[in-house]
Amino acid sequence: MSATKPVLISGAGLASLLLAQSLRLANIPFRIFERDASFVFRAQGYRLRLSTEGLDAIESVLDKETFQRFWDACGKTGGAGLTTYNAVTGEITSQPAQPGRLTSRNGMTIGIARGDMRRIFASNCEDHIEWNKHVTGYEVNDDGVRAVFADGSKSVEGSLLVAGDGIYSKIAKQLSNGKLKVYDTGARGIHGQAPSTAFRELGEGVFMIRDQSRPDGSVSVITNVRSGDMHNPDIELGWTLVGQPGVVKPPNDDYTIIGSHAADIVKELTKSWHPRFKPLFDQMNVKETAFWKITCSTPSGVTEWPNQPRVTLIGDAVHSMTPAGGIGANTAVRDSALLGKLLREAGGFAPGVTEAYEKEMRVYASAAVHQSYSSATGSFGIKIDEESSNTV
Ligand SMILES: Cc1cc2nc3c(=O)[nH]c(=O)nc-3n(C[C@H](O)[C@H](O)[C@H](O)COP(=O)(O)OP(=O)(O)OC[C@H]3O[C@@H](n4cnc5c(N)ncnc54)[C@H](O)[C@@H]3O)c2cc1C
Repeated sequence: MSATKPVLISGAGLASLLLAQSLRLANIPFRIFERDASFVFRAQGYRLRLSTEGLDAIESVLDKETFQRFWDACGKTGGAGLTTYNAVTGEITSQPAQPGRLTSRNGMTIGIARGDMRRIFASNCEDHIEWNKHVTGYEVNDDGVRAVFADGSKSVEGSLLVAGDGIYSKIAKQLSNGKLKVYDTGARGIHGQAPSTAFRELGEGVFMIRDQSRPDGSVSVITNVRSGDMHNPDIELGWTLVGQPGVVKPPNDDYTIIGSHAADIVKELTKSWHPRFKPLFDQMNVKETAFWKITCSTPSGVTEWPNQPRVTLIGDAVHSMTPAGGIGANTAVRDSALLGKLLREAGGFAPGVTEAYEKEMRVYASAAVHQSYSSATGSFGIKIDEESSNTV
């Protein structure tokens, strides 16, 4: 009986876990398959900025008590918006008079560490996760669907398979017959963190520190300094460094390396920066420093593919974005809320659910990818040719 078969979810990331919360609260059975051996919280301290849409989506899913816990864990930063500094001279180059598009609820910039968000979204779902399950594809028939794993084994039969397994999703490739593409923009980032006291010179607010003096391309650091935490050295705040293509070079382009290789590159890139910014790098927590590859889905929008009622995609698996605008996770949680709502209304899998979800998702996700790509062409100097650029 299809109604009792679980919803299968590939990946235990943000989008998947929020969808799982939605199903759990509606008593719809589900199983999650995660490639990693356990939750990895190392190098996960980077903060995700939450938009009004993102917060509304999260609140629409979580029960009251869990949402309160989530909200309490969010940092709330005041200030007018993004202040930009010249990295070398230390001067402010732009300061918006009005709260900008970074602000959301209560006129504040709301942010949470990715690791904390994942931990809260996982509450009461831990027993539904199967670890060390690397999903490489699926098999579908009229009655159900099975996930296929890297070792050749298969999952139980589910009513529906949802891929929330990020930018390398094999399910996305199979479902769209290769039409869904994720481009490697060539730009690389490094995330780092340092004790909050290292940020004192900046004050409260959201900052971009920009170095345009390099001949090989610009480097920017984005950070968010919250008032309540600024003087507590036990709390670490994060920053993200982004280099134009060719500026940040991980050894062998292996961006999965974390620790001193990444920290040394940051020190080299920022060595001529103004003393007011130095503590961010001199005091960085080296073992939490991590590279990341800046990718983007097809900028013209989320491609169409023939709907397969029993398989669908959420989050970065269907719309990867550059960090410009900080909307990747916000769009991912909208997917979870929307798909979860449609499944709840239908009492679980039903024909038409994934088609309705994909139709609505394509509209807001295409706009988000386009917005993120357009800002990144200016901020990070990237350019994607949909016909010829490298894909991941
Ligand atoms: C430094 C940085 C800063 C960012 N800042 C922001 C921000 O301010 N605001 C914002 O909205 N977004 C931001 N983002 C983007 C945001 O992190 C992503 O959009 C979001 O994490 C996507 O969630 P997801 O659940 O789709 O994928 P992920 O969080 O990537 O989760 C995918 C999960 O699937 C698992 N997995 C992968 N492959 C397989 C497989 N084959 N089988 C099984 N499991 C698999 C992975 O291990 C992982 O657990 C930022 C990203 C970075 C790197």
